Amino acid sequence: MKAAVFHQAGTPLSIEDVADPIPGAGDLILKVRDCGICGSDLHASKAGSALAPPGGSIMGHEFSGEVVEIGKDVAGLWKSGDRVCSLPVMGCGKCLMCLKGQGWYCEQGGRILGMGQESGAYAEFVRVSAFESIKLPQSVSFREGALVEPLAVGLHAVKKANFEAGSDVLILGAGPIGLAVTLWARFMGARNVVVSERAPDRIKMAEKFGATAVVNPDGDMRTQVKQACGGRRPSVIFECVGIPGMIQNCVDFAPTSGKVVVVGVCDQLDTFVPMKAVAKELNMQFVIGYVRADFEFVIDLIAGDRIDGEALITDVVAFDTFADAFENLRTPSHQCKVMLEL
Ligand SMILES: [Zn+2]
Ligand SMILES: [Zn+2]
Repeated sequence: MKAAVFHQAGTPLSIEDVADPIPGAGDLILKVRDCGICGSDLHASKAGSALAPPGGSIMGHEFSGEVVEIGKDVAGLWKSGDRVCSLPVMGCGKCLMCLKGQGWYCEQGGRILGMGQESGAYAEFVRVSAFESIKLPQSVSFREGALVEPLAVGLHAVKKANFEAGSDVLILGAGPIGLAVTLWARFMGARNVVVSERAPDRIKMAEKFGATAVVNPDGDMRTQVKQACGGRRPSVIFECVGIPGMIQNCVDFAPTSGKVVVVGVCDQLDTFVPMKAVAKELNMQFVIGYVRADFEFVIDLIAGDRIDGEALITDVVAFDTFADAFENLRTPSHQCKVMLEL
């Protein structure tokens, strides 16, 4: 099959012929239909602590596809042509963590697809765990199916924030994850959803995704945010940028007893002054990923036309231009979610 293979930092992905995946007893082979490029793949393919193991791994963990092969233990449960999206996880499917929908904490060691442990979906075919797969209703397109993962990341972060409806919320950064957080903060009943962003294209996107106001991080944030929140200070701050210094910004900005939710993935050393967080008795919450129930919820809402995730997509590419599209995402542009479509 054709796949985009990562060899080493500094070298673009190369489109190569590799061996087709073979299903284990509890697995499915999907013909990949769509796979989104994630910021974490950009991190994992450049020098740094998040670097994927070199030597030919296949990334891609935001995907949808069609079942083409079925493992013998799950033969009665699936049929060829089933439309599917899967959590990018291979676990045992039997332990408590797997049963709770948190397969990457599997007691046997959950392996993640597209992060160097198991091949991901920048390929014509991908092997997934049937246990982690969810059938897509007809009203959910393959493109939308590939958006379930990033939307679930945002949903999970907003659920972990556990704020009361009517709270004022500030979101730092309007990349794909910041936008997903914006969408869910609005959906979950935030009063004001204020987004901090400087890039003009992303400001437009933030408004589309439900921001009630967008403020400029280069300006006087305190005044702008207070104005946007009717004189109040937001009680919840989501960090969705992922560069050093952002946690300190959140700590400085949070009100007494406020909550800081760190969603941005920063793979460098970062420092902040704990005393400031202590003095305000801040609640700091770090989040990653999602659980299966998040996937199911997102799929339901897309199926019922209650959220429009497709607005995240700015570009759709095929294999012939994929490696370039991937590299281009390293420099800021109009692009938000770029989709590989097969
Ligand atoms: Zn991702
Ligand atoms: Zn398990």
